[in-house]
Amino acid sequence: MNLRDTVAVVTGASRGIGNAIAEDLGRNGAKVVVNYAGSQGPAEELVEKIKQTGGGGDAVAIQADVSDPNDAQRLIDQTIEHFGRIDILINNAGTNIDKTMDKLEVEDWQKVIELDLNGCFYTVHAALPHMTEQGNGAIVNMSSFVGEAGNMGQANYAAAKAGLLGFTKTAALELAKSNISVNAVCPGFIETDMTDAMPEDMQEKITKMIPMRRFGKPEDIAQAVRFCIENEYMTGATLDINGGVYMRT
Ligand code: NAP
Repeated sequence: MNLRDTVAVVTGASRGIGNAIAEDLGRNGAKVVVNYAGSQGPAEELVEKIKQTGGGGDAVAIQADVSDPNDAQRLIDQTIEHFGRIDILINNAGTNIDKTMDKLEVEDWQKVIELDLNGCFYTVHAALPHMTEQGNGAIVNMSSFVGEAGNMGQANYAAAKAGLLGFTKTAALELAKSNISVNAVCPGFIETDMTDAMPEDMQEKITKMIPMRRFGKPEDIAQAVRFCIENEYMTGATLDINGGVYMRT
């Protein structure tokens, strides 16, 4: 898909990986919906940046908690009201509550599954009628190498991210006839607020475990997401961008 004049929704675009994805799509000519949960300031700053960067991109910030099906529906409805269509949906919003299973509470399980897995279905459910009517679309779901390999203290997160991979493949099978591609990206450890929250000694330990000996940058993931959109024969795929860490787990 050629990005020029397409309309892209990026969930969780106020910070981190989503922010880099939205900026990259805007710089390459897309009209971008910068979704956020609470960070209105950073979301609006990004909108201005995209508008000023040139490249033909445009942007608007829309607040919505995508773990709430009504909010996810409103996000897509407001996208249609503002830009008239939706060509690209990037399900990036995610969170983690890391505890070993002896400490993991039911609420910790539900909160992560509700956003990291269910939120993806809610936005796809809302966007699908528009994409099928248009006869085109590209959906990219942000999974994680943890969904492929598992990780100590991340049962809820790993289950959600593994679930996204099954969802991606099934959606790809069902939607190919409507010219809608569905792919997943599995980042390794990327420099964002999510990994900043780890204790420093743990970050050092992880860095030693990564064959490339460093965390990735949000831009590394944005580039992979754009590849998923622009490539016209790839669907149901999982792209691993992890500095080789998956081979060490
Ligand atoms: P981050 O820095 O913590 O940013 C999270 C983003 O999600 C923020 O923009 C946040 O918005 C938004 N968000 C949170 N709850 C939301 C909700 N209920 N509805 C809508 N948006 C919501 O995270 P990140 O590291 O960039 O991670 C982005 C995605 O990549 C996640 O799915 C994560 O699991 C995945 N991932 C990350 C890594 C990594 O190493 N960083 C590795 C593998 C996969 P507010 O600013 O408004 O709160």
